[in-house]
Amino acid sequence: MLIDTHAHISYKDYSDRIEEVIQAAEDNGVEKIISIGVDLPSSEECLKLAEKYPSVFATCGIHPHEAGKAPKRYLYELEAFIQHPKMVAVGEIGLDYHYDFSDRKIQRRVYHEQLEMATSLDFPAVVHCRESDDDILEGIQNSGLNQGVIHCFASNVGFAQKILETGFHISFTGMITFIKELEDVVKEIPLDRMMVETDSPYLSPKPFRGKQNQPKNVLHVAEKVAELKEISLEEVAESTTETAHNLFTKLTSTS
Ligand SMILES: [Zn+2]
Ligand SMILES: [Zn+2]
Repeated sequence: MLIDTHAHISYKDYSDRIEEVIQAAEDNGVEKIISIGVDLPSSEECLKLAEKYPSVFATCGIHPHEAGKAPKRYLYELEAFIQHPKMVAVGEIGLDYHYDFSDRKIQRRVYHEQLEMATSLDFPAVVHCRESDDDILEGIQNSGLNQGVIHCFASNVGFAQKILETGFHISFTGMITFIKELEDVVKEIPLDRMMVETDSPYLSPKPFRGKQNQPKNVLHVAEKVAELKEISLEEVAESTTETAHNLFTKLTSTS
């Protein structure tokens, strides 16, 4: 059994076939899907899906792309969302210096504020990091938060090791099936510190490149991890699922 720890199934891309997508995941051994919020409305949508489908769980947060549009009282709204039994993490939060859709100063403020909130609530964070390694690491270290994940890991072994020292984990997408440089990271970091995700609807793994991604494809990410680490798929599934349950403790909620 696998968990897709990061999917944007609240996006309109799926609205006309969401049931089919969730069913396909279940039929393919994906027992749980974490539906990731990127702003307040999408976080609310994620919660609605979590309330409707037993296998779906939610996160709430302001993505760096949306940081410039975050309403003043967003932290209060997030804190209210977090009370929900199926709300498993703050996220996704972070810094994206590749697209720079929000001013970097604002990105940093909103990232730091959410890290602080997660720390004070003793709650894990899902972090997006794109060409912003140093500032991401510094933010985590300064906040003292020791539970979370760098999702869609796209950097090098050195950065991965520094992240692991903070207590954070690393999650891989389908990028490991088509970006050669990431293979070393998968090989080098311990199996028990990694998770798998699709980041649907983006980043379809091989052999589905160019098509819309969906949670059932997390199998292909896990298969690539197994191949690179020269272990069985079962071992990868068991370990990544256990890691996800240990990090996102509310994944055991049933209501
Ligand atoms: Zn992201
Ligand atoms: Zn995402």
